[in-house]
Amino acid sequence: MSFLKNTHKFQQSNINGMSKNILITLFAVLLLASCGTTKTTIDDLAISNPIETAIDLSKVVDDKVPVVINPGRFTIETVTYRLPKVVQGTYAVSDFGKYVDSFKAIDYDGNTLPVNKIDTNSWTISNASKLDKIEYDVNDTFDIEVTGGIGGETPFSPSGTNIESENYVLNLHGFIGYFDSLKNSQYKLDVTASATFERSSALQNVGTASSEDGSVITTSYFAPRYFDITDNPMMYGVLDVEEFQVGDIKIVLSVYSPNKVHTAKKIKETMYKMMQAQKVYLGDVNSTARYDIFLYLAGQDKTSPKGFGALEHHTSTVVVMPEAMPEAALAESMVDVVSHEFFHIVTPLSVHSEDVHYFDYNNPTFSKHLWMYEGVTEYFASLFQVDQELVSEDEFYAKMMGKIQTAASLDDTMSFTVMSENVLDKPYSDNYYNVYQKGALIGMCIDILLREESNGDRGILSLMKELSIKYGKNKPFEDDKLIEEIIVMTYPSIGAFLNTHVIGTTPINYNDFFEKVGLAVIESKIETNYIQNAGALIVAADRDKGTIYFNDLITQNSFWNGQGVQPNDVIKEIEGTAVTLQNANQVFGQMFSWQPGKEIEVKLGRNGEEVIIKATLKQSYTVGEKLQAKEDASDKQKALLNVWLKG
Ligand SMILES: [Zn+2]
Repeated sequence: MSFLKNTHKFQQSNINGMSKNILITLFAVLLLASCGTTKTTIDDLAISNPIETAIDLSKVVDDKVPVVINPGRFTIETVTYRLPKVVQGTYAVSDFGKYVDSFKAIDYDGNTLPVNKIDTNSWTISNASKLDKIEYDVNDTFDIEVTGGIGGETPFSPSGTNIESENYVLNLHGFIGYFDSLKNSQYKLDVTASATFERSSALQNVGTASSEDGSVITTSYFAPRYFDITDNPMMYGVLDVEEFQVGDIKIVLSVYSPNKVHTAKKIKETMYKMMQAQKVYLGDVNSTARYDIFLYLAGQDKTSPKGFGALEHHTSTVVVMPEAMPEAALAESMVDVVSHEFFHIVTPLSVHSEDVHYFDYNNPTFSKHLWMYEGVTEYFASLFQVDQELVSEDEFYAKMMGKIQTAASLDDTMSFTVMSENVLDKPYSDNYYNVYQKGALIGMCIDILLREESNGDRGILSLMKELSIKYGKNKPFEDDKLIEEIIVMTYPSIGAFLNTHVIGTTPINYNDFFEKVGLAVIESKIETNYIQNAGALIVAADRDKGTIYFNDLITQNSFWNGQGVQPNDVIKEIEGTAVTLQNANQVFGQMFSWQPGKEIEVKLGRNGEEVIIKATLKQSYTVGEKLQAKEDASDKQKALLNVWLKG
């Protein structure tokens, strides 16, 4: 968690986006930080009249959207209406009730009824049989965000809401709530907005109506129950929308780039290639007929969202990324992030516990198995890329080594199951980020063990498929029995591993697992770019002086070191552009994509003197740890390596 905050500070100082790895780390942290899990809620109560709800984007006043909720006639005397405290997949408190103003209960004669606000997210109305409708205004979360990510005072941006003149991010759980007694009621939702807007929605559209002068259009949607309200986000506004087909799935990509930096057309190519590969990798897994990707690219205004990442839903994902990212870095991050969200189709969207299935939005309990929901999902998002040859083996190894290094900075002796079950509370919440690091490595170790035990036939993907046949979207497992069950389905060694390293607190010796596949960690020359050594930035900002300088790591960057650059040299100009804290994002974004062979000119300041570096870029290296195949690996090890990476 501190990692996340540091990253964030960095971003606020306007130099985020400066490098892919920083961004990827950001994403990994902030993005992935919140993949959500969606689940199905099942109630005994069946109510025939849908709750009629309306959101009017054409009547925004002071940045607030008016909402009307008409539940039909109540026969009970007291009802409680709530907005979610927590939404699925975020593992943190969002308190959507905080964004509601001017809450009014109105009776059938048009008079207001007394309302008792019982907590941040809940309102009780006592003369419920007289209640005609509820009206309130909703503020958006994006404007208020100070620190993005989980554990902050605001929802993680991909689960948040946005209200601005040309863009509306309608994570509906931020606008529409539920009555305790009517959680399983159907919902009808009318969204009214300018006729000029694009409208992208994962929710079923059941009709449209135009105003008399044609300036506004009301689109009507249907949701079988409240769960579907939370599981189907929308984006309205001046959007760039592209559709494409991946096998039998229609993908709808909706992009909002406030400064028109990125286009849906470009991003579509990357998404197509990636999702095609995911489909091949997953094989016969049930999928949806349509999948929506909502991408909000954040500018650098005070009111821009700051929690980069994505949140998964059954048939869509909401992604928030910095608009300042260079195209190649955005493409790479989109692959990592969207593939992760899409893999959530396996778990928890299919394989999940009762905590997830019967999720309580205001008093949730949490499953012990974040190692599986987030860790295995994150592992799939890396493994499929090497399996389907989107990345090289070395790139995959580097990613796993990065996870080992990051996990080492978190509490390596914390029980993963205890952490998961208590994820809202300290010290567990501070280690949540480890679900994407150690969680993925747990997935990797189980995968290697399964391959070893089964002569290559079984792996973690086949295990997850077996579990999804046994359980699935409509059938949760019992949280306390999952591990026993996996042991019965697999081998004693899997049980020993889970008991020792997932339930237990013993750190994993990853070298034992790499040995099985003939890999070893060695000290080695590692390729770097021109602003980082193996992921660590070689530049830093001096906020008091408003300058950017090379830090001590510069001595370990072969290119700059070879040019005589020294620690604390101030970077005054890059290729004729004066470098400031304000434009550092763009300048370093360009430096990030520099390639060997390019002619460069850099003006440095050293002890008050100017130093000019004019050179042709050469590949730069640093020294670090690297995973590589052992020369003396046995045939057995080689065969296991091959089946692990290539299925
Ligand atoms: Zn996730």
